[in-house]
Amino acid sequence: MAGLYIHIPFCESRCIYCGFYSTTSLKMREAYVDALCKEMAMRTVDRALGEPAQIETIYLGGGTPSQLTSQQLLQIFEGISQHYDSCMGRDMEVTMECNPDDITPSLCHTLSQLPVNRISMGAQTFSDERLRFLHRRHNAREVENAIHLLREAGIGNISIDLMFGFPNETIQEWQQDIEHAISLNAEHLSAYSLMYEEGTTLYRLLQQEKIKETDEDTYLRMYEMLIDKMTAAGYEHYEISNFAKPGFRSRHNSSYWHEVPYIGLGAAAHSYRRKPEVMRSWNEADIHKYIQTITEGRTEQEHEILNKETRYNDLITTALRTIDGITLEDIKKEFGDSFYQTLMTEADKHIARQLMVIKDGHLALTRKGLYISDDIMSDFMLV
Ligand code: SF4
Repeated sequence: MAGLYIHIPFCESRCIYCGFYSTTSLKMREAYVDALCKEMAMRTVDRALGEPAQIETIYLGGGTPSQLTSQQLLQIFEGISQHYDSCMGRDMEVTMECNPDDITPSLCHTLSQLPVNRISMGAQTFSDERLRFLHRRHNAREVENAIHLLREAGIGNISIDLMFGFPNETIQEWQQDIEHAISLNAEHLSAYSLMYEEGTTLYRLLQQEKIKETDEDTYLRMYEMLIDKMTAAGYEHYEISNFAKPGFRSRHNSSYWHEVPYIGLGAAAHSYRRKPEVMRSWNEADIHKYIQTITEGRTEQEHEILNKETRYNDLITTALRTIDGITLEDIKKEFGDSFYQTLMTEADKHIARQLMVIKDGHLALTRKGLYISDDIMSDFMLV
């Protein structure tokens, strides 16, 4: 079983913090969707070489998948059922990322014709002033309207994204955002601190000293508040940035954290498979080139065969992000005694400082460890 990720690199406008590769040129959508469906057919060769044919989660991410027309969305799912039909209709998780202002009665009507059963929505904040600062297209009211429409359309699994650590944001303002999010009763919430990625407008504003980055101490207090409020509201803190009501962890993202194979379709999409050897591959990122090569019947995938050290490092940075941590037995089985000993030597130091704990055969971060997770993970890395 595997996850299927489909990348939709179109946005109506650019948000100032976004470092993802996407385009506001919507006229290429039709050719892109045709190429996506063609890639599904072409990946038959990869399936013969070991790429999984059976999928149990689908994720339409971007970019903004809700910028596709009804016809284009139907075409994509038609392609999926044609090439991955063995699993359709079973207990699948099918997620689509949507912008709140794209969620209209018309989109909900389209959703009712698709197997989509989970919507992930970038709310980011409930302050219209901060939304304008980010150059987001929606306002706070539209998030509530969107949730209302989605519920009416029968979507029982909604995830919202929030951001914290805006320039000049106070702890009280962040508290209001968290409480607002909880009041919406979504099944899942992801929260990320505002990142200043090189090449973005936000980064430029910082360099020009027009805005000031939130200090470490405030970030930490905001993160602590997030965990306290979300867990008190009945959400399970199951990954560093993710919270879910019981039974609503993201199955698709969980598979990334547990080395489950995934198939990535579309420009810049990454894939991961374990047979015949462990391999990561990725598609051409440039949308024009992607469409051109696929239309000509070629794929321009680059790949990397993962050796034991890289796989071990990957496992550290993914599994340690989760509340379940690393399964010690798996380390022994997959990597052998010497890796296990290396892991335990490092783990003992952190356990002594109460930054990590071993419970039921799993090595995981404690709450104290979560706050400095990046430092701890880098201590475990093999060079
Ligand atoms: S809508 Fe999403 S992908 Fe598009 S620019 Fe904004 S943050 Fe980036």
